[in-house]
Order: sequence, then structure tokens, then C-alpha cells
Amino acid sequence: MDINKPRYTPMSRRRRIYEGKAKILYEGPEPGTLIQHFKDDATAFNSKKHDVIEGKGVLNNRISEYIFQRLNDIGVPTHFMRRLNMREQLIREVEIIPLEVVVRNVAAGSLATRLGIEEGTQLPRSIIEFNYKNDQLGHPMVSEEHITAFGWATPQEIDDIMALAIRVNDFLSGLFLGVGIRLVDFKMECGRLWENDLMRIVVADEISPDSCRLWDIKSNDKLDKDRFRRDMGGLVEAYTDVARRLGILSENERPQGAGPVLVKS
Ligand code: UDP
Repeated sequence: MDINKPRYTPMSRRRRIYEGKAKILYEGPEPGTLIQHFKDDATAFNSKKHDVIEGKGVLNNRISEYIFQRLNDIGVPTHFMRRLNMREQLIREVEIIPLEVVVRNVAAGSLATRLGIEEGTQLPRSIIEFNYKNDQLGHPMVSEEHITAFGWATPQEIDDIMALAIRVNDFLSGLFLGVGIRLVDFKMECGRLWENDLMRIVVADEISPDSCRLWDIKSNDKLDKDRFRRDMGGLVEAYTDVARRLGILSENERPQGAGPVLVKS
């Protein structure tokens, strides 16, 4: 046996399927699987603002793994299979529906600006919005009419997506409330998963502090990507706090602000 032969395909030889702003997708070990790699890159305002924040990818890999695993456990289908290492997870290959599904519980961000509602105002009920996933156009908000007219999803698929979004919102709201965090809003993406001739819609991409607004219940401190968008600093510390509260990182795993995050593989 050649002891110098690597056990895994080196990163450079793996086939890269897609590279996005914060993640890379590689070909998976079996047909129908992919490897999702979390980078440290942070972007905002349609990529006009960009930075590399050491440790962010490792934290998002862990937090998203935790959330997707819990969703799988309660019967909300997701693309997640298992974590592979600090930055990578094995996922099922799905056909991504080109929509960002935003669920809001409290007014913030673009909703607060667009409708002139003060940030932090509780909404009368949870609101679902759709943005068309297109970087060149800056992810414009679209209605169900646009979605069905342009064939991005069928009316039945929109119903399924909205039912999934409500379940994810209810689950996440409770999960975060239990650890003293208010889920203000979040973005999720869905994909079509084929099993033989049957197709079902599953939750895909990631759910992490990059794609949620998370406020501390008592102080209203922001524990999410708004720290980057608004140049507040302390992003890794905030994401670490979220991971710790969820019980993902143990108390002594990483002292606040002390270099790269240690994560158990
Ligand atoms: N969001 C996201 N990716 C995007 C745009 C928004 O993950 O490209 C998330 C964002 O973190 C927030 C929610 O979607 O939790 C609603 O964002 P909003 O429409 O208010 O836009 P923003 O103010 O973040 O540009």
C-alpha cells in the first residue's frame, strides 16, 4: 500500500460545481450528493461590500448543520446529510428554485425602509416575501404572479414552499426563544429533490446568522450579519455566542475574541 496516497481527494482535484459568495459546492462522493464548503467571505449590498472574516465559515457550518439536523428530526425535509469536517457538509443534490424566501416576524432591514415602519416593531403576523435570485438584478422582490408567470415555480410548489417556510419559522422562533434570542427574520432557499419519479420540495442552502436576524431578547444586541452590514464589528464573537447558546460549542471551547474558532470534528 502506498502510504503517501491521500485518503481523500485533495481539494484542488475535486470537481467544483459552483462557487458563490460565501460557499463552494463540490462534486460529492456518490451520485446525487454534493459537498457544501463554507468560506470566510462576507458580502453585503449586492457584493459592493466584501471582507474575509476568519472563523465565520466554520461557525456557519456548525450552526447550519445543527438547524438542518433538527429540522430533519422533526420531519421538515432538508438537503442536509451530515457534516464532513470543520468547513464542509455532505448534502443531497437538488435543483435550486431561484427564489429567496424571506419570513419576517419583526420589522427590520428592507421592510422597515420600504414601508417606513420603525425597526423592532412586532408585525401583526408573520409575513412571507419572495425575492428573485439574480445577483445582476440585485435580488428584486417578486410576487406569486411573477413566479408562476415566468415559470420559476408552480402554484402547488409555492403552496409547499410557504407551508415549509411557516414550519421552519415556528420551529426556529421557538428554538431561539429558548436561548434568549428573538428571530426577527430569516431567508431560506428551497430545492426540488427527486427520489425515483417522485419530486418533493426540501429546504436547501444554509440557515445561519448570515441569513437570519437574531436579536438578544433583553439587550436587543444584534447577533447576526447586520454587524458586518453596519460596520459594528464583533461578528465572530456574536456568531460564537449563538453557537454556544445552542449548545454547539462548549463553554471552554473558545475564549471570546481569541483567534480562530476551535470546533470538534
Ligand atoms: N437575506 C439574506 N440574503 C440576502 C438578502 C437578505 O440572507 O441576499 C436575509 C437577511 O439576513 C435578513 C432577511 O433575509 O435576515 C431579510 O432581509 P432584508 O430583505 O431586510 O434585506 P437586507 O436589509 O438584509 O438587505
